[in-house]
Amino acid sequence: MNALPLSGKKVMIDPGHGGRFAGAIGRTGLKEKDVNLHVSHELQEDLEEMGAEVRMTRASDTEVLPGGSLRDDLQARCDLANRWPADIFVSVHSNSNNDPEVHGTEVYHARNASSRSKVLGRLIHQHMVDELPLKSNGVRKSDFYVVRNTHMPAVLVETAYLSHSGNEALLADPQFRESTAGAIARGVRDYFAVESEIRPDPPAGQQGPEPPPEEHLLAPGDPLEYLMAVR
Ligand SMILES: [Zn+2]
Repeated sequence: MNALPLSGKKVMIDPGHGGRFAGAIGRTGLKEKDVNLHVSHELQEDLEEMGAEVRMTRASDTEVLPGGSLRDDLQARCDLANRWPADIFVSVHSNSNNDPEVHGTEVYHARNASSRSKVLGRLIHQHMVDELPLKSNGVRKSDFYVVRNTHMPAVLVETAYLSHSGNEALLADPQFRESTAGAIARGVRDYFAVESEIRPDPPAGQQGPEPPPEEHLLAPGDPLEYLMAVR
């Protein structure tokens, strides 16, 4: 009897924003928090079909720490993953840029990310650019709060740009959201297939200094007004 590829693996999915934190908003009014949640639910289904044990930092349109500050809300997401503890952490976002011509897909890991985070990011990104009609913007570094303060391999996926009309139309399409989730899930599957071969990280002392987390409350593409409104 063959075990499913992800049996025994614990995945924390983090649908970005929620409740009074809407995130980016497209020109048609499409809200990032809603796109993120839908993609995350599809991703949960896909990963569970592959045998993974999946938890969501939020499963509905709510804050993770209702009424709390943005910082506390983000820390609550990290706490859920760290206390479980999850094997990997995948935060799902949709991007935005002041320039309406900017489009495409990116995956982020922390600046001083572990080798495992980098491999996880690369494999998810590879499936996204292979399977979705999106421009590749590569795998990037960013010390966004949730990838910096989780203690397991962690990435933040920026599916596509809500500020770009073509990308926004895709993000509004349930079929595209399903395909996006499928691509992320196959990246996760590939990661666990090679995880045991990834070289261990150097001791913490050989990594750079801790950045001040307050500077990294926003994900790339989160509107600055969002930070001002919730602080
Ligand atoms: Zn976001």
